[in-house]
Amino acid sequence: MTSARLLVFTDMDGTLLDHDNYSWQAAEPALAELTKQEIPVICNTSKTFAEVKQLHQQLGLSAPFIVENGSAIYSANAETADQPAHNIGAKRQQILSELSFLRQQGHQFEGFNDWHNEEIVQQTGLSIAEAELSGQRQYSEPLLYKGNEQQKAQFIEYLQAKNYLALQGGRFLSIQGQCDKGKALLKLKAEYENLWQTPVITIALGDSQNDCAMLEAADVSVWIKSHKAFPTIQKKEQVFYSDLFGPAGWNETMAHILLLHSNKQLKPVTTS
Ligand SMILES: [Mg+2]
Repeated sequence: MTSARLLVFTDMDGTLLDHDNYSWQAAEPALAELTKQEIPVICNTSKTFAEVKQLHQQLGLSAPFIVENGSAIYSANAETADQPAHNIGAKRQQILSELSFLRQQGHQFEGFNDWHNEEIVQQTGLSIAEAELSGQRQYSEPLLYKGNEQQKAQFIEYLQAKNYLALQGGRFLSIQGQCDKGKALLKLKAEYENLWQTPVITIALGDSQNDCAMLEAADVSVWIKSHKAFPTIQKKEQVFYSDLFGPAGWNETMAHILLLHSNKQLKPVTTS
C-alpha cells in the first residue's frame, strides 16, 4: 500500500497567529519542517480573502486557502476575491439585510459593517492597514452581541431558521451561510486524494468553537491552548492538546505529530 500523505489545515487567530500580537515566529521551526517534507499548509480561517492573501505571502505558503469560516476556497495564485475556486457560503449583502431586520426588532449588536477602520482597530487590535483588509468581507459578518443571553439565543435561533449559521469565535459571533471549516476541509481532502492518488491524513489545528467542525472532520485533531477552556468535540481518536499557547503550541504539537507520522503511528479515522 502507498503510504499516506499529510495535509495540514490551520486556523489563524489564536492558533498559528498569537491572539494578541498576531505573530507566528514561534511556529517557524515546524513550518520550515513541513515545507521541507512538502506537506501543504492550508489556512482555514474566519479571515477574508484580502487578509489571507497577504499573510500567505508573508508566511511563504503555496497551498490553496479557505476564508470566512469555510465560505470559499481560493487557489494560492487567485488575484481577486471574486475568483473563488469554490463558493460555498452566502453573500454578505443577504446577511446584512437579515441583520438590519433583526436590529429593527430591537436586537442590539455592533459589527464590522457598523465600524470605520479605526473602530475595527480598537475592536481587534489589528493595525489600520490590516483592518482595511479585514473589512473587505464577502461572505460573513462578525459582530458583538450587546443584549442578554436570552436575547442572544433568540437572535441566533432566528438566523438559524433563515438558514444562516452563527459561529462563536475567540472574539466575535460570526454570521454566515450554511458552511463551516469542516465541510471545506473535506472538499480539499478529496481533491488532494484525487490529485495524489494516495490516501490522505488530514491534520487540523484550532483554538475555539468555530474550529469544532474542522477538528471533527480531520483525521488528526489538535486543540491549541488559549485563555478559554478547550472546546469539546465528539471525536475521541487522535485528538491532541497543546501545552503552550498559540504559535508555540502549534510548533510543539506539530513536531510531535510529525514524529508519530514518521513512526507510522497516524491513521485515517474519518471518511470524506
Ligand atoms: Mg482562532
